[in-house]
Amino acid sequence: MAKFLKIADANPPGMFRVKRDDPSQGFLSPPLQRMATTIPSSCRVPHFVGNKEIKFKEKAVPEPGPGQLVLRVHANALCGSERPQFLDGAPVTPGHEAAGTVVAAGPGTNTAVGTTGAIFLMDFCGECRSCRLGFTNQCLQKRGDMGFNRDGGYGQYELINENIFFPVPDEFSATESTLLLDVMGTGGHAIERCRLMRPDIESLLVVGAGPIGLAVLAMAKIVIGQQLKVLITDIVSYRLKLAERLGGLPIDVRENSLGAGIQSHGLVQVDMAVDTSGKQLARQEAVDAIAQRGSLICVGHGEGITLKISPDIIAPERSVVGSEYFRYNELPTNSQRLRKHRAYLSQIITHRMGVDQIQQAFEAFFFGCETGKVIIEQ
Ligand SMILES: [Zn+2]
Ligand SMILES: [Zn+2]
Repeated sequence: MAKFLKIADANPPGMFRVKRDDPSQGFLSPPLQRMATTIPSSCRVPHFVGNKEIKFKEKAVPEPGPGQLVLRVHANALCGSERPQFLDGAPVTPGHEAAGTVVAAGPGTNTAVGTTGAIFLMDFCGECRSCRLGFTNQCLQKRGDMGFNRDGGYGQYELINENIFFPVPDEFSATESTLLLDVMGTGGHAIERCRLMRPDIESLLVVGAGPIGLAVLAMAKIVIGQQLKVLITDIVSYRLKLAERLGGLPIDVRENSLGAGIQSHGLVQVDMAVDTSGKQLARQEAVDAIAQRGSLICVGHGEGITLKISPDIIAPERSVVGSEYFRYNELPTNSQRLRKHRAYLSQIITHRMGVDQIQQAFEAFFFGCETGKVIIEQ
């Protein structure tokens, strides 16, 4: 380890939190534990080789350069956007919903070793026109995407530029801290995009009750209010039950047409819709279900949409809007919301598994359909 590093050995071992081995403790009151403070020169990390197979390989543990931090990752959430990496393999270690503890800090950084927090996916430049206005999810000179073209959070150690670290008080476990990313971040940003298009939202349709659909539902209730009617569709009973527990009005589109499902909840149309399914047919139906002045907010990637401009868009003044990840500066508000709605939001996490079970975790997440968010803990 180079001399300029503030290494973990220099800090009190009590500063570090590790995964609890006893899942019966839940994750509402994480105990602090001591961990070995020596950073190894290499460690075993998951290797996505393609064809739905995850092996392990030994990889060097990086050292931080100027402006950089190394985190000991304790939790990383699985995400639907990792499907191509699971199917086709990945040149880097995936994982973009990571939280952990800073164990080494390079020169020129301000984050103390021992600080706990979450990692923002996009390594934004902080200087371009978008970044200067706070639109860090639309950076014009992005340096990388963690877990996609930089090593991410399924490895034990993750090297990041300090600007994408968001400190989270250590009263929250690493698993809870991951809620700030694609659940509260991406879900909350979609709701922000809704409110930008229309201030008077009384009903919202969420298409798809996968993890992002559940996230949009939860953030809609938190941000807009409990009185908001949130209708949510899926074809998997497990997911619809989870959505119902979060306060959503479920529509099983295996049994009902979307229109009949909306009517069963006492409405004719909805004010706004958010698509998390990525399916063309579902998007088309959603547009037809939106009232005048409403918008379809697209969060799920995937297929396309065909619009008839006059009747679909111009006459009713409807719009189709994209929503991509979220801005770094949405994190502080969401951090306060996490404190207030911690138990509610934690229901979205249905599985917590050790890294040795990452293969089973991915299979359950992508092919079992009976999960909400799945977290790899280590
Ligand atoms: Zn994600
Ligand atoms: Zn930028």
